[in-house]
Amino acid sequence: MKFGFDIDDTLINLREYAFGLYNKKLQKNIDLEIFKALKTVEIHHPFGLQDVEGKELWNSLREEIYFTDCPPFPMAVETLNELVKSGHDVYYITARNKEFGERTKEWMQRQGFPMQEGHFYCGMEDHEKIHIIKKLELDFYFDDKPQVVETLADTVVQVYVKDHPYNQEVKMNRLKDWSELASILKK
Ligand SMILES: [Mg+2]
Repeated sequence: MKFGFDIDDTLINLREYAFGLYNKKLQKNIDLEIFKALKTVEIHHPFGLQDVEGKELWNSLREEIYFTDCPPFPMAVETLNELVKSGHDVYYITARNKEFGERTKEWMQRQGFPMQEGHFYCGMEDHEKIHIIKKLELDFYFDDKPQVVETLADTVVQVYVKDHPYNQEVKMNRLKDWSELASILKK
């Protein structure tokens, strides 16, 4: 079967990692509990930043956010390797800017994620992911963003939302933890 995955906040804990970096850079000590209660994808509000400032900070730290030691979610690396070992195809579909594509691919490999030739797509807008997902005829697709999964409601792909406080309104299958995937496949 063919499995497609978003990367940021689906396979890796990017927002939480960036939240820690914001605390460090802004010399703040905002509690992780505040992060965990955030109902927005954006993380700058607890730091008292407006959207424009938040975006600027994110962009200025992007290299560090993307390419240092953001941790994968527990069991994500193991689960995807298990899929490939069982003969399935694993695709990555990330809206990260094209300029970061090659390094994202290498970084993912360094974390131990399986990388098959030609199975990495990047640089599209959220609403354009559907075209790749349809073209690849994926059986399963996993993403955290409401704006992405909502475009997929009428497709044949089995969509799973990676559970976060900011996507609770989405009424779709959800996955809290990567160790759940094995039992989903047994259904
Ligand atoms: Mg994401």
